[in-house]
Amino acid sequence: MIRTRFAPSPTGVLHIGSVRTALFCWLYARHANGQFILRIEDTDKERSTQDNVNAILDSLDWLGLNADEDPVFQSDRFDRYHEIADQWLESGKAYRCYCTKEELDAMRNSQKQKGEKMRYNGHCRELSHGHNDKNYVLRFKNPRTGSVVVNDEIKGRVEFKNEELDDLIIVRSDGSPTYNYTVVVDDVDMKISHVIRGDDHLNNTPRQINMFDALGASVPSFSHIPMTLGEDGSKLSKRHGAMDIREYREQGYIPEALLNFMVRLGWSHGDKEEFSISEMITLFDIKDINQSASTFSPDKLIWLNQQHMMKAPIDSLVPLLEYQMERLGINGAHGPSINKVIKVYRERAETFEEMAKSCRYCFEDFDEIDEKAAKKHLRPIVLEPLQEVYDRFNALTEWCLDEIDACIDETVSKFDINMGKLGQPLRVAVTGGSSSPSIGLTVELIGRDRVLERLQKAIDVVKKRSGSN
Ligand code: GLU
Ligand code: ZN
Repeated sequence: MIRTRFAPSPTGVLHIGSVRTALFCWLYARHANGQFILRIEDTDKERSTQDNVNAILDSLDWLGLNADEDPVFQSDRFDRYHEIADQWLESGKAYRCYCTKEELDAMRNSQKQKGEKMRYNGHCRELSHGHNDKNYVLRFKNPRTGSVVVNDEIKGRVEFKNEELDDLIIVRSDGSPTYNYTVVVDDVDMKISHVIRGDDHLNNTPRQINMFDALGASVPSFSHIPMTLGEDGSKLSKRHGAMDIREYREQGYIPEALLNFMVRLGWSHGDKEEFSISEMITLFDIKDINQSASTFSPDKLIWLNQQHMMKAPIDSLVPLLEYQMERLGINGAHGPSINKVIKVYRERAETFEEMAKSCRYCFEDFDEIDEKAAKKHLRPIVLEPLQEVYDRFNALTEWCLDEIDACIDETVSKFDINMGKLGQPLRVAVTGGSSSPSIGLTVELIGRDRVLERLQKAIDVVKKRSGSN
């Protein structure tokens, strides 16, 4: 049974990089009909917060990266960590180290002076006599000779000499267990078959493998994914868009598009760019994860969001636009149906935030027409055509696109002007600005009552201008 896990520390919220790790773990489990587990690594009580735990759960939920079991919290498992530590102490796989801070500092200083790598020298490893001091840490007795080979699925074979690895602290003097140790106990207890994580953990892996051996457990498969960099080649930061993943929801991105974006950060399938979630699941494989770092391109995210917006079933997009409208305080109760709005606007908007902003005039009246647009387009010369189109709209028995277009076309022919000469003033009149979908569609969406009322107002503006001229 293939079992992967995502193991965030709630010392912060989730960013693109960590969510990508979660996605790869989830996809691989789904691809292989396995299971995906969430483990909250909250042993650092000082820096772990409930808000961050909530942020992690909320983000994964929004993206649909569902786990197959209830999340495991490391803070619930201290007894288990102490149980194993005691066993190791008993069997000589771990030992108490009584070195004081001063002694460790002195050790490091002398190593530094000799130009040696700084590490614990094993001073307490073979202490035979008992010690009364209660102030000790537990260290893992790492093998001294030989080497550990990590057969990484992405990095290939990486060999580490045991003499390079010192005896790691597994339980601190306050009784709290450390990362490298808890991870191994958990990965064994949770029967994790595949560890997929950032390559910043590669150097921890030989230490962890030695502890898997100490537990007599089989070693999982390891895949260390290269990191994602900003377009300028530097470490991904807020400036590049590496913000709390929930910000993307706020900005109106589609979860599927975001997942598509993230799967392409370091994984590819030929030169295909667009993937639905089910395609990702079918096609994803660890062996296709790239060996080199990937680049975060905000433009590509926008592009993918648009592609997904264009292809998704409209009904599935309704909640996304509703969410943005609510966020922006647009009351959807009086106006066209949300489905219809999406159908008309999705070709023009890159995100749902943008869509909500640009369809506001379908739901709300505006007090002022954009001054620049009015000056440019509501000139005396358009008075008659506007009045004509008003009368024609007013006489329509059916408010539908064909009829509306016919009114506009007939007016254009009657005055022998080109389409833009009527279309643009009409747009300014009914939307208050100079950009909207095709004028017929816009008029249809806004609806008869509002169109007539706004058109009348615009005609009054033009009349006033004519009079003062
Ligand atoms: N808690 C670790 C982190 O957030 C997880 C490391 C692992 O996956 O083993 O980096
Ligand atoms: Zn010591």
